[in-house]
Amino acid sequence: MKFASKLVHFDSNPGDPLRPMVTPIYQTATFEQEHADSFGKFDYSRSGNPTRRVLEDQMAVLENGTRGFAFSSGMTAVANVTRLLKAGDEILADWDLYGGTARLFGGVLPRTGIKVRYVDASNAANIEEHISPATRMIYVESPTNPMLRIINLKATAVVAKRRGLLLCVDNSTMSPYLQNPLDLGADIALHSATKFLCGHSDVTGGVIVVKDEKLAEDIYYLQNAEGTALGPFDCYLLLRGLKTLKVRMDAQQHNATLIANFLSTHPGVRKVFYPGNSSHIGHPIHQAQARGSGAVLSFTAAGAAAAKSIAEKSELFRISVSFGSVSSTISIPVKMSHASVPAEMLAFRSIPESLLRLSIGIEDVDDLISDLSRCLDQA
Ligand code: PLP
Repeated sequence: MKFASKLVHFDSNPGDPLRPMVTPIYQTATFEQEHADSFGKFDYSRSGNPTRRVLEDQMAVLENGTRGFAFSSGMTAVANVTRLLKAGDEILADWDLYGGTARLFGGVLPRTGIKVRYVDASNAANIEEHISPATRMIYVESPTNPMLRIINLKATAVVAKRRGLLLCVDNSTMSPYLQNPLDLGADIALHSATKFLCGHSDVTGGVIVVKDEKLAEDIYYLQNAEGTALGPFDCYLLLRGLKTLKVRMDAQQHNATLIANFLSTHPGVRKVFYPGNSSHIGHPIHQAQARGSGAVLSFTAAGAAAAKSIAEKSELFRISVSFGSVSSTISIPVKMSHASVPAEMLAFRSIPESLLRLSIGIEDVDDLISDLSRCLDQA
């Protein structure tokens, strides 16, 4: 089946004799056992829940993995991945990461004895040069957030394999519709499901998909041991949102392309960052590893005051930290999603104060462009 068909044709109710079209919400914490000395398929929802299982299996299919795991947030998914390491181990991470991931890496991991070092991962040779005997994992996003830098995932996976390291790719900005990190050689594909997977800003969730059975066992063990799984109702909402992933992303990406073109010609815009622009650094690599440019883009305005004015004057772009929803949003990353940057990252950080990040929704693109045009003219 092609991707669009996989989104709607899957076993939504394994084993249910009533064959409901939609996966039921098993809003139960426990399952009665037939025998006192053996468990049934499910026993306790922290360990496994039928609604969650359908979502996890569906995500494994969409990411071309073998097992999926749903978490209470993107951050619990990230935290789970870091739990694969132990005190003394080190993560080599690209410097352009979501601010919350940087907060976890800088503020929490040092307490566990895990060290994170930042590198410019847009060059795989540079990653390899920085690997130390303690390095266990390479952690990247591509396109990065908010600068939309491109990491060569295939080349990075080659380095990771050669040096016996795990490669974790946060695929939130692309979704499995546009990019499949496991196919490019990554060990772990991770999502903030709060973004495009959900698409409607009504779930906070995270997803991990892997291929390797031993890795899957470790991730499951941690998910169960730490009780970080997503609740049944949120799993249901995610399953519902996922069905329209392709139609949403097609519409959002179409709008994003036209908006990136519009911004590129406006005198009030200094620079546009969008992987779909042929002038974008890493554009050919992105074209080779992804099937589209997505619906997140950034641009620099004339200055910090202009950026603030554009964000506040907009009527259709709502000021919000997240991205991936059907409604368009605007944010100033240095003041919002990326406000908590640890000191060790500052050496690399070059997020301009005038940078605005847009997440493009499914509104009529003419309305979006005329709203932006008015705000830019007034700024
Ligand atoms: N990864 C990326 C790229 C993100 O943008 C975010 C949140 O914005 C996260 C992870 C964390 O996800 P959540 O907010 O669902 O915990």
